[in-house]
Amino acid sequence: MVAFLALRLRSVACSLLLLALLPVAAPLRAWEIEPGTRVPPAPVAEAVAAQRADDPGAARRSMQWSTLTPSAAGAQVHFLVFERDRGQRAWLLDADGRVLATVPRGAAASGEVGTRGLTLALPPAGERPLWLAVESTLGVFPHARIEDLGVFLAAERADWVFEAGLGAVLLALVVLSLAFHVSLRDRMYLAYACYLALMLSALWMRHPVAFRHATALGLEPERVAALGVLASALAAWAVIELMRAAAGIADRHPRALRLLRGLALGNVALAVVDVATILAAPAVAHTVFTLINVLFGLTALGSAGLLVLAARDGSRMPWVFLAGWAPLVACGAWFSLGPLLGAPQPDSPRYYILVSCALQGLIWAVALADRALCLQRERDLAQALAENDPLTGLPNRRALDRALGAARSGVVMLLDLDRFKAINDRFGHAAGDECLQRFATVLDAGLAGIATYGRYGGEEFIAVLASPDVAAARATAERLRADTERLQVDLGGVRVVLTVSIGFAPIVDGAAAALAAADRALYRAKSSGRNRVEMEPS
Ligand code: GH3
Ligand code: MG
Ligand code: MG
Repeated sequence: MVAFLALRLRSVACSLLLLALLPVAAPLRAWEIEPGTRVPPAPVAEAVAAQRADDPGAARRSMQWSTLTPSAAGAQVHFLVFERDRGQRAWLLDADGRVLATVPRGAAASGEVGTRGLTLALPPAGERPLWLAVESTLGVFPHARIEDLGVFLAAERADWVFEAGLGAVLLALVVLSLAFHVSLRDRMYLAYACYLALMLSALWMRHPVAFRHATALGLEPERVAALGVLASALAAWAVIELMRAAAGIADRHPRALRLLRGLALGNVALAVVDVATILAAPAVAHTVFTLINVLFGLTALGSAGLLVLAARDGSRMPWVFLAGWAPLVACGAWFSLGPLLGAPQPDSPRYYILVSCALQGLIWAVALADRALCLQRERDLAQALAENDPLTGLPNRRALDRALGAARSGVVMLLDLDRFKAINDRFGHAAGDECLQRFATVLDAGLAGIATYGRYGGEEFIAVLASPDVAAARATAERLRADTERLQVDLGGVRVVLTVSIGFAPIVDGAAAALAAADRALYRAKSSGRNRVEMEPS
């Protein structure tokens, strides 16, 4: 469904671009091409076999046959366009096996058409069908088309815009997840960044431009393709590390995870062998490549199974991961099982893989963003808990020290309950706790909005008033003192009168000096008989 929608979107974009060119380039075709429909007649097959005989790498490359049949339309210029496979070579033959034209490997590097096409001029339409044999390096659905040059170039440009946009988005995601990794110190984001970077390089190594650059550096297209397989294998390993870190699979299914990691590592090792043997021993490379594909399938199935198990434990993350897999799995099933079931195959499977990878990256990015928010919320909660006094619900000493450190002006007020030990001794610790809680309500009523206040320890409280107005601070303190006296806490049928002594000092030379001065004022309040308010200039 998603791939279908993506195809629609792409078609719309391409159509808009083509619309401008269509009047200039009306396609008139003398030949119609029909890919992979019939087995070639013996002379044609033999002619191509002879051409391939002296090439040791030929066994690894897949072949596709197409027929070109004369059409009724009048002839003009015709282009044969190979899609995205720079290691391809091709032969155009007549029905008697005569080679009419050859496209050697690497010919596309000269970029005759646009940036990634090969061109082959077709002869004027005759009576009998022609045969086109295409040998593919990548082994992914080689496909040939007859195109009009203008139409082809417009489609090329549309593809470039799409690919550049996609690449930019994925690259931005890599940078973003690295930033998340640095700020949240969560391995999951590093695994995700690695996965994205490897996936990008795997896609890149299958890109025609990469083939061109590689050829310029003297690398064989096969070697580049094999390196792409190695990058994919490493990406699959990164995915398992990502699931381990993100979906909590390590704690719940350690054995299954170990098995999956083993499979992924095995695949990486096989991919290394593939790179090493691709030119020297193509037959070995071919077998290894088949094994790699089987392992890929097993790893994907195993990952999906583990995610389903993890999702059943009630976590949301595995579901999002599964949703991310879905387009790629659908593509895989379509391309691998489709031919067996007779389902029509896409013209350019690479495009679907590209879209699926992008969707996977984006859906997983949503999952990771969700996780980042959860982490942030947990951290906020942890900080709130770390700075909160569980008995009274007020900020604790840690929070108050922070508030004091930040205060540049205002008034520091110290409040200490009078003869509190006696209450504990007479009514018990639980009764003392209740008094502390009731006193906290007095502070809430009198200080909310005008001060940062909390429990400094024991039966000692601190308020940092924002206003430097000493007279107003004294009035506030007096009101708190009177409200406390009026509390009259009921402790097991006995009405106990709580009183509080308060010392305060304006912040002049910093909060620490004001705190010391308020402490001295409190000491005076205590020694002058308690239930009093005293002020000390800092
Ligand atoms: P003063 O008027 O001089 O302040 O006398 P006081 O008894 O209030 O002072 P003192 O520092 O001698 O005793 C403080 C008491 O507060 C001692 C301790 O048992 C009690 N206390 C400290 N923390 C808690 C608490 O969390 N719950 C209860 N119930 N009591 C506490
Ligand atoms: Mg006390
Ligand atoms: Mg005390």
